[in-house]
Amino acid sequence: MRLARFAAADGAPRLGVVTGDHVVDLARAAPDLPGDVGELLALGPAGLDAAARAAEASGAGVALEEVTLLAPVPRPGKLLAVGLNYADHVAETGLETPEFPLVFAKMPSCVTGPYDPIERPVVSDRLDYEGELAFVIGRRCRHVSRADAPSVIAGYTILDDVSVRDWQMRTSQWILGKSFDTHGPMGPWLVTGDELGDPHALAIRTLVNGEVRQESNTRHLIFDCFGLVETLSQVFTLEPGDVVATGTPGGVGNAMRPPRFLAPGDTVRIEIEGIGEIENPVVQEARVAA
Ligand code: ZN
Repeated sequence: MRLARFAAADGAPRLGVVTGDHVVDLARAAPDLPGDVGELLALGPAGLDAAARAAEASGAGVALEEVTLLAPVPRPGKLLAVGLNYADHVAETGLETPEFPLVFAKMPSCVTGPYDPIERPVVSDRLDYEGELAFVIGRRCRHVSRADAPSVIAGYTILDDVSVRDWQMRTSQWILGKSFDTHGPMGPWLVTGDELGDPHALAIRTLVNGEVRQESNTRHLIFDCFGLVETLSQVFTLEPGDVVATGTPGGVGNAMRPPRFLAPGDTVRIEIEGIGEIENPVVQEARVAA
């Protein structure tokens, strides 16, 4: 199943099931189900099954082109990411291959929609993309074995781990350079594990203005989704709606010679086989004090 969040005609966020080029509004098809994605996921497979059945019974729904898709998880309780998790990306950075997952946090406030603008911040012009497979936790869990990990993952999506390189490298902790507002485009929806199949056999590529910059396959992940669940859940409880971005392949702008950073007017498109694509224009941040 493809579970989406979208803006209804009145602008209110809704959950929906995507079938073909239409989306079924679950607020109409299954009004008893929670309208919040974390609450729906917390119901476990029964909740997702109920959503799928309701969508099937309700007919076609609304054409996708008539709605605005939103991030499938608007404010994850945890938004984690993994650095240096593809060999070709490790090589282009000149850093050592990690012997343990290099996990860092992005602030959940950076999450934005699959077609929303990425802002180039007023404080830096070293803006870069990182196309990544992300997984979404579906069940509250702790100390999950690698073998059991698939059962706690609700689904998979695409995340651009947008990075501000000078702020990222200024200190050993990457949080600031990874957490600017709008620097977590996510979507276009969540694809459940049963629909996606093997998450470690998916073509992934990133294009800037139509030019292919990253092209790889999730089979090249050093630490894969299931191993990451095992490691992370040794530390803290994973909860429905937590999101983990698994790392980016080679080809980031910062590693090009000379580096090629994103500028206003650029468009970043990330495609993952079996999931779809996100596409975000780059705009200049207007310095607005709030
Ligand atoms: Zn990344």
